[in-house]
Amino acid sequence: MVSDVCIAGGGPAGLAAALALRQQGFAVTVVDCAVPPIDKACGEGLMPDSLAALRRLGVELDSSIGYPFRGISFSDGSSTVRGEFPNGSGLGVRRFQLHELLVKHVEAAGVQTIWGAKNVHLCEGGLSIQGTHLAARFVVGADGLKSAIRASAGLDAVKSEKRRYGFRRHYRVAPWSDYVELYWGPRGQFYITPIAKSEICIVFISRDSKLRLDAALEEFPLLRQKLAGADHSSHEMGSMSISRSLRRIYKDGVALLGDASGSVDAITGEGMCLAFKQAEAFAHALRSGDLKQYAAHHKKFSAKPRRMASLMLTMEWHGEIQRRALASLAKRPELFDALLKLHVGEATMAGLLSRHLVGFGLDFLTA
Ligand SMILES: Cc1cc2nc3c(=O)[nH]c(=O)nc-3n(C[C@H](O)[C@H](O)[C@H](O)COP(=O)(O)OP(=O)(O)OC[C@H]3O[C@@H](n4cnc5c(N)ncnc54)[C@H](O)[C@@H]3O)c2cc1C
Repeated sequence: MVSDVCIAGGGPAGLAAALALRQQGFAVTVVDCAVPPIDKACGEGLMPDSLAALRRLGVELDSSIGYPFRGISFSDGSSTVRGEFPNGSGLGVRRFQLHELLVKHVEAAGVQTIWGAKNVHLCEGGLSIQGTHLAARFVVGADGLKSAIRASAGLDAVKSEKRRYGFRRHYRVAPWSDYVELYWGPRGQFYITPIAKSEICIVFISRDSKLRLDAALEEFPLLRQKLAGADHSSHEMGSMSISRSLRRIYKDGVALLGDASGSVDAITGEGMCLAFKQAEAFAHALRSGDLKQYAAHHKKFSAKPRRMASLMLTMEWHGEIQRRALASLAKRPELFDALLKLHVGEATMAGLLSRHLVGFGLDFLTA
């Protein structure tokens, strides 16, 4: 059988692409080297936009599978500020449960799936799986940060790239907040996502690949205190967190999607959201036969999270900048709300600067 589209990689991006392509009437095969349900180091927070994108793909998520959160909070131990999403709640969901659910939807939509596939390579007219040819008119590389499809398609040229490292672990404890909490420290950030009535996911992200969760926690006494006595409900799992933008994301017969197509720092919590939006845009572009449209949407979707990550990570470089910025934000919660609006695309940078720059600047200088 010849598929219209063969997708290498059945993570969130590949599965979302399969659903979007089925909505456009394409015959689709998904091939992954792992076997479901697939887990991955992740903060497990789905932003309101991610939930909306999934809903458009026919996947409805609610509190029966996760734990809703209403916004984001920042804290450095002395100052705390929080803001609510302007566009609904987010949802914390265990990564393997999300994967399980997406697989069910994909199979119900009539997608052919091949799990545990070894030696998956791009070849003339499709994919090769351990020497067996799988014919397809179009191939999608949704095979993650280290994408082999990207390399063999010659789409590896990078515009910019920065690496950090993320480690996650789950704790059996009732969430103490209905916000995703971000704790700022001297060598990285913790973020805490509530994912069930009695479970939370904690992630530490740092430039230091050797700094593991337990050692990092020593530098966050407030958080350590909150976790005291709580059992772990998973092992520590790590992954790179890469901000990467590529020169090209498609060529004749091949396109990249999700982390394979470029990625944003994990601190944004936007990785899956981007993948879901890209999936929709790609399916429409393939249907209309104009992949330039896909590249244009791809660039637009990632512009705001990239800008937001750069803004947040300037605070990482200098402890004094971090302290002053958080103290000033704590004085001006309306600015933090405006930043969240900007993050979810409901405000512009120009509007934010014109309303808040002077006041924030004065607070920052005197903090
Ligand atoms: C520490 C950390 C925390 C994060 N927190 C969040 C968060 O809270 N919210 C959020 O939205 N995003 C978060 N992200 C980002 C998010 O995890 C990624 O953006 C998302 O996983 C991208 O999905 P993907 O399908 O592109 O890639 P992946 O999830 O990596 O999936 C790729 C798939 O391809 C398969 N594969 C790989 N190589 C091959 C091959 N050669 N052949 C066949 N199959 C192959 C793999 O088995 C895998 O199933 C976080 C990332 C990190 C590192």
